[in-house]
Amino acid sequence: MRVTPKVEEAAWTVGLVPIHWYCPGKSAAVVMSVDDIFPGTSQSAYEAGGDRERGELGRLLWLLERHPQLQLTLFVTPDWRRISPVADRLWRHVPWLRDRVYLSKVLPKGTMDIRNHPEFVAFLNTMPRTEIAIHGLHHIHQGHSVSVEFQHQERAACAGMLAEAIRIFEESGLRHVRGLQPPGWDCGLALQQACRDVGIQWVTSARDIQTPVSKDAKTAMSGLSGVSMLFPERIAPNLVHISTNFQATSAPERAFDILDAGGILSIKAHISKNVPGHTHLDGVDDLYMNYLDRLFDDIEQRYGDAIDWTTLDRLATSPSASSPTLLPEEGHHATHRLSSRIAEDRRVKFFHRKTGARVDLPLFSAWAAKQSKPSRRPLRRQGST
Ligand SMILES: [Zn+2]
Repeated sequence: MRVTPKVEEAAWTVGLVPIHWYCPGKSAAVVMSVDDIFPGTSQSAYEAGGDRERGELGRLLWLLERHPQLQLTLFVTPDWRRISPVADRLWRHVPWLRDRVYLSKVLPKGTMDIRNHPEFVAFLNTMPRTEIAIHGLHHIHQGHSVSVEFQHQERAACAGMLAEAIRIFEESGLRHVRGLQPPGWDCGLALQQACRDVGIQWVTSARDIQTPVSKDAKTAMSGLSGVSMLFPERIAPNLVHISTNFQATSAPERAFDILDAGGILSIKAHISKNVPGHTHLDGVDDLYMNYLDRLFDDIEQRYGDAIDWTTLDRLATSPSASSPTLLPEEGHHATHRLSSRIAEDRRVKFFHRKTGARVDLPLFSAWAAKQSKPSRRPLRRQGST
């Protein structure tokens, strides 16, 4: 972890400013992104998009169909190798060695290389209102932080990995934009510089689903800390950052507060709910899609046409994001945290839209419990009216 910025770093961070800009006539924006997409199927360790419309991507298609304004950003890993995020190998007890080997089982290179899965690529290319961006190269690292792919690598090494990721995307024929979600959230200085080297225009590193909402709120949870929680921000020349500020465990009031403040409601999901040794609280499942379906209904009713339903790439590459006509901000410095705090596990009763059963799950607020009206449509398209 860096302690004192060097001169070069201080120069690098000059001009850090939040960006307040939307389409004409819009007062706030909604974006949604989904991580950890690769060609894993239900025959693999876990499904992560490889079953296409029959798997988790089908749930996203349902949500897109329900909400014609909604746009998605899918973060795809070019050659996914992680099987479990849990460091459980015996070597983890051996100093020196444990930092130089993979501490969980990993897939051989090429197994999930998207160039070897043309049907998966073709399917992604046909998804409506969906952009694809980069989620690392292999999504693994030696040592205890299995998922944090960019840790101590030098700028050149980071640039090499990003260039390889882009090459795989291009050779596969996958349409994509020049954005990055670093696996494990962390985006240190070397990676920020490497992004610039390979032409990546924006990153989404910081996730903060706890700090109270205000226009001036700064991130203090996963990934970059001290960047704007509500607005795009240029963190280096030619590199814009957009935070994640909402997920399945967030109360709807947080979404409304963000929109009332004129911010970007930036929703995160992970494509697989359960992976070996870990459950994603924001995993794509019926309940989360159900929650977002209702939340989007409420946003549409409350705010009407005032919302810019857009994508991370469009926000980051908007004219104002590339112009310097922004308020300077004193004392700003994007910093890098290796630790992340786990979201508070608030449990409330919730009415399951599909089964009608009441379920206990770690999310929402009293709002969710109040939503007792029956389903207008089945959650999944197949099997009912
Ligand atoms: Zn990931």
